[in-house]
Amino acid sequence: MFPICAPPLVDGVVTIAGDRIVAVGENLSGQRAVDLSEVALGDVALLPGLVNPHTHLEFSRLAHPLGHPGMPLSAWILEVVAYRRRIEASAAESAEDARRAALEAGLQECLACGVTTVGDIVTAGLDEVLQCPAPIGWYLFQELRGQTAQAIAAQIDLARQHLRPVTSRPELRPALSPHAPYSTARELVAAACALSRDASCPVALHLAESREELQLLATGGGPLRDMLEQLGAWVPAAFARASAPRDYLQLLDTAHRSLVVHGNYLLPADWDYLAQRAARMAVVYCPRTHQYFGHEPYPLPDLLRCGVRVVVGTDSRASNPDLDLWQELQVTARTHPGVAPAEIVRMGTLNAAAALGWETEVGSLAPGLRADMALVRIGGHQLPTDPHETLFDATSVVCGTLSRGSFTDQRRQR
Ligand SMILES: [Zn+2]
Repeated sequence: MFPICAPPLVDGVVTIAGDRIVAVGENLSGQRAVDLSEVALGDVALLPGLVNPHTHLEFSRLAHPLGHPGMPLSAWILEVVAYRRRIEASAAESAEDARRAALEAGLQECLACGVTTVGDIVTAGLDEVLQCPAPIGWYLFQELRGQTAQAIAAQIDLARQHLRPVTSRPELRPALSPHAPYSTARELVAAACALSRDASCPVALHLAESREELQLLATGGGPLRDMLEQLGAWVPAAFARASAPRDYLQLLDTAHRSLVVHGNYLLPADWDYLAQRAARMAVVYCPRTHQYFGHEPYPLPDLLRCGVRVVVGTDSRASNPDLDLWQELQVTARTHPGVAPAEIVRMGTLNAAAALGWETEVGSLAPGLRADMALVRIGGHQLPTDPHETLFDATSVVCGTLSRGSFTDQRRQR
């Protein structure tokens, strides 16, 4: 058992009552404990339900990522726009039905992969999303985009509406995501951060994802400008003044909490800036999406050495083959063998929960928290000196999920 907030326990026991954990390390139930190795037919590790802090579930019906590996971000964005237009234009089903089916498929896939809390960037309105039953904790980051005065005003209205409390659905957590510097005016990022303070919700921004983005911010030109012109979305005034990712970090610093999505090309000085604010600002590393675009090596060891809070996300099926956060952590372990396995597990559990601001509910196994857990069938039979190493054996897979105290994925259990 890996409580995450405490050292691992061999033959650990957790007592749950209803949807909550009441004890870790002892059986207070008055009943015989369930032996999970019998359920899973092999040695298992019990972890908190995994937390995927960044995805876009609207793409969850894609069988393959859009475009092709190694393509420039600017070209891939055109693929995304074309995909959305196909959904809107489809005669086979309404766009609303298509989006809802994708969200439901994505939520089920999360659950099957041991993920019980997700940070999802949504483009559908809240009313549409509320039609979906949510089997897991669901952060709804409303995407905000726009660079003209008219668009900014409309998006601020949308953000305000989105943050209205959804008291009937405590598993839904409204949040905001100004999309990216190339698509979203600085005024809109600032407004989203101000609203997040009032609502005590996190803000997510794709930032420093590509060298093209740095070029656009510094010079107002390059492939992203060409892409925006092609889409009829080029607003010269938005890039009249040279800027850099640091300008956006300073805006995000004014939010209640913020997630810097990707941060592939931040500077060492930016790492220090983020490290000084690690309690409220985190960076989301998306390893397989990073590989898909063929980016330069991710500076994970450097970020960690500086003290930046780094968490791991899947991003969406538009740039990733699936939503399996466990695979994402496995890839992180293989790509960065110098990073301690215990650190990597935290990136998909407790640290991800803290990045979202929900660590008092999810992300570790402790009394009072939600009884959300992931079962991982582990390959090796000998416990190594560091038990965390068993988790990243190539054969270790998620074989079951408990959400709010109930086994929810019968298919994977067998
Ligand atoms: Zn993303």
